[in-house]
Amino acid sequence: MNDLLRAAAERASRYLEELDARCVSVSPESLARLTELDVPLPDTPTAPADVIRMLDDVGSGATVATAGGRYFGFVTGGVLPATLAANWLAGAWDQNAASAVMSPIGFAIEEITQGWLVDVLSLPGEANVAFVTGATMANFSGLAAARHAILQKRGWDVGAQGLFDAPPVTVVVGEEVHVSLLKALGLLGLGRERVVRVPVDEQGRMRADELPQLPASTIVCIQAGNVNTGAFDPAEEICARAHEAGAWVHVDGAFGLWAAAAPERSHLARGFANADSWALDGHKWLNVPYDSGIAICRDAEPLRAAMTVSAPYLVRNTEPAPRHNTPEMSRRARSVEIWAALLSLGRSGLAELIERTCRHAARFAKGLTEAGYEVLNEVVINQVLVSFGDAETTHRVITRLQQDGTCWCGGTIWQGHVAMRISVSSWATTDADVDRSLAAMLRIAAEENAR
Ligand SMILES: *Cc1c(COP(=O)(O)O)cnc(C)c1O
Repeated sequence: MNDLLRAAAERASRYLEELDARCVSVSPESLARLTELDVPLPDTPTAPADVIRMLDDVGSGATVATAGGRYFGFVTGGVLPATLAANWLAGAWDQNAASAVMSPIGFAIEEITQGWLVDVLSLPGEANVAFVTGATMANFSGLAAARHAILQKRGWDVGAQGLFDAPPVTVVVGEEVHVSLLKALGLLGLGRERVVRVPVDEQGRMRADELPQLPASTIVCIQAGNVNTGAFDPAEEICARAHEAGAWVHVDGAFGLWAAAAPERSHLARGFANADSWALDGHKWLNVPYDSGIAICRDAEPLRAAMTVSAPYLVRNTEPAPRHNTPEMSRRARSVEIWAALLSLGRSGLAELIERTCRHAARFAKGLTEAGYEVLNEVVINQVLVSFGDAETTHRVITRLQQDGTCWCGGTIWQGHVAMRISVSSWATTDADVDRSLAAMLRIAAEENAR
């Protein structure tokens, strides 16, 4: 075991060391080598050392260099050193964080991390936290709590009775709602399309003045950090309107809500603490390894009621246990990496991570604008949308940039305009990475515009 783990650690260290020098995307040669893994399931064992050698020799080259400093696709964080090391140690522990009796350390770290999170995000101190796989499941969990609470007020136990014959629930979303939230609504029987869509402004912010009359049995879903522009819905106004009507407000804050932890950006998150439930990712802006999401609820009871299970073999149902708050029962101790991130960064380090990545985004926007290209959004946090001319030209620049391999950016369509998306979410991105990437973008864009 000892030699095997040392060898794996050495390979992992070498992988990270070589990351800066290699192409961010996967080379055709590395892609072709993947067929080497496609062998028939062997009848006899393979030595663990050979398993790891094969994984590294063939697999490492076929990874996208998202752990490096020049990957700007989707919204993708890297891995902070302390979080990767904590992940390795916790892997050796192999704890099941379902309950305190199965893992005292898993339970203790969840309790501590929960307190740190609501503190650093300026959310209500009594809020209840569930550590899940990502913002999709965090949205699911927050909305499950909302569904329970809204229907309970009407005398309906949705967990026991289901949704057939239940009183109707109205779900309000912005026109710019993230697809994962709609997916969560579908899973919960609330319907992906059975929603009231509220118009948005030119940055994608829900227009509070366009909110319809809200029946009491309503869930209003707002957003902290639009996946394209990074914009924040006007939470203060919407929460006030919703709560006046007796509605529940759920926040999809997958990456954007982390702005609350940076003093210079926290004004953007104003009013979001007035909501009833929140969903965040750990694996995006907090830079912890996949997969990691966080659901937070103002009141403990609706989340617990939606998720709890009990059986004679599960000890006492009153025992404190994370499984009462999560969709999963058995679960790795995934709060360990979030704990390690927050401890290693501290309040100031987290604020600086958020600020630094936002500054990098602003530098991209400035460099692109100065070169004559149109930045389509107000760069309020870490997201930049840029057009390199007509749709065709922008598409070609994106494709060539991805092939070039200096950095990686994806495309999108923003309010009818084809754009390249730059999301600076990694702790590892340096000023030099921004310079190198910007130079590649400008070189390729100039060539494509000269064609
Ligand atoms: C990424 C993202 C999600 C989905 O998160 P996963 O971690 O992929 O499940 C939801 N909402 C927003 C705004 C996002 O950026």
